[in-house]
Amino acid sequence: MNDMNDSADEVLNGDEVDNLINYDDDDDVTQSTRTANTQQIIQEHHDDRSLAKCWSLAKRAKAGYFVRDGILYRKEKSLGQECEQLCLPKTRRAEAIKLAHQVGGGHLAANKTKERLKLSFTWPTIAADVTQACQVCDECQKRRRVTVYTHNNSAM
Ligand SMILES: [Zn+2]
Repeated sequence: MNDMNDSADEVLNGDEVDNLINYDDDDDVTQSTRTANTQQIIQEHHDDRSLAKCWSLAKRAKAGYFVRDGILYRKEKSLGQECEQLCLPKTRRAEAIKLAHQVGGGHLAANKTKERLKLSFTWPTIAADVTQACQVCDECQKRRRVTVYTHNNSAM
């Protein structure tokens, strides 16, 4: 007999329910970027040719670049405050830009996106990459007309 009616003791435990509910990880990307597997980042850092110059600078302690625990960082002073930026390998840049660009349903302008991004991250082509990513962002293209209008209105 396949009588399942009184098998109430077979309910899912809390963890299993969490696993089922958390199938959509989109909102956890920030966290996963920050706590990304260290070994993986180290590997990606070494494989990324676009960071070769940064490694070389770090070795000579130039331009604020330095290495800690095998990971490449850059120390930058902004408004008298020193912040440590993780040098992102190519593989993680698009994701980081997206996170910095989209705030609570809104989309930041390229310069604001870059400012926000640079509180935590950097890489050699960050300015150009952010500008480009914001230019091709679907949502921003839809809003562009409004933004340009607002911008013109507040022009001095
Ligand atoms: Zn956008």
